[in-house]
Amino acid sequence: MQSEFGRVSKVITERECLTIFMKENIMRKVLVALAIAAVLAIPTVAQAEVYEEGSCSAGNFSISFSNATFTAGIGWSTGSARTVAFQGSCNGCSWGPGVYGWWRNPLVEYYIGKSGGSSQGSYSCDGTSYTLYVDRRYNQPSIDGYQDFDQYNCSGQMSGQKDMSCHFNAWSNMGRGPGNHDYMIVSLEGFNGNSGSGSVGCTGSNWYQHWNNGGSSTFNCGGGPTSSSTTTTSGYTTTTSGYTTTTSGTGSNSIVVRARGTNGSEHIYLSVGGSQIASWTLSTSMSNYSASTNNTGGSLVCFDNDQSGRDVQVDYITVNGSTRQAENQSYNTGVWQDGSCGGEYSEWLHCNGCIGFGDIGGGGSTTTTSGYTTTTTSGGTTTTTSSWWWGGGGWWW
Ligand code: CA
Ligand code: CA
Repeated sequence: MQSEFGRVSKVITERECLTIFMKENIMRKVLVALAIAAVLAIPTVAQAEVYEEGSCSAGNFSISFSNATFTAGIGWSTGSARTVAFQGSCNGCSWGPGVYGWWRNPLVEYYIGKSGGSSQGSYSCDGTSYTLYVDRRYNQPSIDGYQDFDQYNCSGQMSGQKDMSCHFNAWSNMGRGPGNHDYMIVSLEGFNGNSGSGSVGCTGSNWYQHWNNGGSSTFNCGGGPTSSSTTTTSGYTTTTSGYTTTTSGTGSNSIVVRARGTNGSEHIYLSVGGSQIASWTLSTSMSNYSASTNNTGGSLVCFDNDQSGRDVQVDYITVNGSTRQAENQSYNTGVWQDGSCGGEYSEWLHCNGCIGFGDIGGGGSTTTTSGYTTTTTSGGTTTTTSSWWWGGGGWWW
C-alpha cells in the first residue's frame, strides 16, 4: 500500500489540522473495510480514490480541480542532487508549485518553501536564504505506509530554480541526511474542497504523479509553461534552455592600444588574425586607443607612414583588460637596432613595421548561471539574460 498512502502523504502532512482530517479520512476507509461505517454513521467516500503515475514527455502539465483534495507533480521517480528549474502557477491550490520529495534511510519527507517544526538553522542556496525546520511525524502515512519519520520543511522562497545539491549539503551539514532518494517532484496540492486550476513546467523531467481523493481533478500532460531560449548577439551566441546555458561563437575582444608619436602625425593600425581592425593618427602625448573585434589570432600594432621626424612609441596594449607590454615582445620589425630596422623588446617603431603582441583567443567567454539569470562575460562585454517561460497566460522569469 505504499504507493497509495505514500503518495498521498504530502497532503496529509501539510498541516496539523489537515493531517488530522486526512488521517481520519484514511482511517475511515479502513473502518469501512471493517464494516463499521454504519455504526459510525459516516458516509463512505463518494469519489473513488485515483492514483496515476507515468511518463509525461512534455515536461509540463496542467490541472483543473473542483472541490478537490489532490496532489499533482512532475519530476523524477528517483530524486538526486540536481538543479530543479521550474515555473508555474496555481489558482486555488493550498501549496505549490514547489519542490517536494522523499528519502529512505532515513525516511524523510521534504518541502522547499514551507515552514513548521523545530528550527535546525539557516543556510543560503539559490541566491537566497532558507531555514530548515524538522517536524517529527508519528505513525503517519509515508512512502512505506504508516511510519515515524521526519518532515523537512525548508522555509524560504518556494518559487524559482532550486539547487538541490546545495540544499541536501546544507541539511547534511546539520546532521540531516542525505538519505536514499525516492521520488522528487514539483508539485501542486489542494485540500478538502479546493477549486481552481494550475500548471507547472519542470526542465528535464518526464515523470508525473497525480492523486485525487475527494472532489475531482483532471490531469493533463502538457499545457503548462515550457522552457525557451534566448539569443544575444555580441560576437557570440547565448542559448538558454531551462537552466542550461551554452555560449558559442567567437568572443568580442576588447583591445586598447596605448601609444604616442614624436611629432603627432604618425599613423598606426591594429591587426588581429591577419585583418586590420582599427587605425589611428597619434598625438605627441601617450593616449589610449580602443577597438573591439570578433577576430582571433595573432595581433600586431603597425606604423605605416614613417617619414623624417616620425617615430612611434607603443607603451602596451590590453586585451580584455590584460596588459601586454611592448617592451616584452620579441617581435618588432620597426625598431632601429644594430644599424637596421627590426629587432626585439622595445616600445619603439622608428621605421614602418609592427610589434607583435601574440595571439588573441576567443574572447575568454565565461558563462555563469544563477537562478534564472545568466551572466556572460566575453571579450570584456558582460551580458545578462534571464531565461523565460511562457505559460499561464503570461511571461515568467
Ligand atoms: Ca611599456
Ligand atoms: Ca622614423
